[in-house]
Amino acid sequence: MLLRLNAVNEVAPLANLRQLFDLQELDLQIGRYQTDLASVEARLADDSAVVKARADLSEREAMALQLRKQHASQSQGVQELQDKAKGLDQRLYGGSIRNAKELEALHAELQFAKSQASEEEEKLLNLMLALDEAEAGLATSRTDLEQTEKTRADTIATLAKEQATLTQRLQALSANRHQVTVGIAPALLAQYEQVRKARQGVALAKVERGMCMGCRLTLPNSELQRVRTSQEPVTCSSCGRILYAG
Ligand SMILES: [Zn+2]
Repeated sequence: MLLRLNAVNEVAPLANLRQLFDLQELDLQIGRYQTDLASVEARLADDSAVVKARADLSEREAMALQLRKQHASQSQGVQELQDKAKGLDQRLYGGSIRNAKELEALHAELQFAKSQASEEEEKLLNLMLALDEAEAGLATSRTDLEQTEKTRADTIATLAKEQATLTQRLQALSANRHQVTVGIAPALLAQYEQVRKARQGVALAKVERGMCMGCRLTLPNSELQRVRTSQEPVTCSSCGRILYAG
């Protein structure tokens, strides 16, 4: 970048515009770095992937815990029914009961207990399958969380470097900008800032082939003439940008 740091009172209007154009290039670069920095900072602040992986894991933990409890309680229930059937079996075939009606009733009771036990065993089996699946899912979620956390740590390290680089560049550009503005007449600088704010950061427009490159409209001849000769900055009658012959 070519810096012309003449004292303000020695600066001819054209030199002033050249410096203003340098300033605009600086400001556009600053704007790009600021956008990049904002994006880096937004990504630095975004923990959503880890938060989601943690939520998934705790959901699966809760599900596995519930299934373990159900499984334990179901196992106990099955054991009790099996013990009951065993007791009935021993009474029925132990030889102590001889009354036919009593034997018949006992036999019916045993059949009922056995079918109940078998029903509950079936439920227990299904619970075991569900629990196995839940435990496998839990292991997957744990691995996912570990990987997500590792990726996040790597991302943070990379982004922190980018953030530091961009911050340094912005500081350097800001110092550079200060140097450039020192050489520009305050009134022109004020005009530049005003148009810059009104025109999305671009206050100066080059004139090429009789056209304002800011709004791409062809300038009237009188305006072109004034751009070449005027000691004062000429603005585009259409977009209001300060015209720069280059
Ligand atoms: Zn224009």
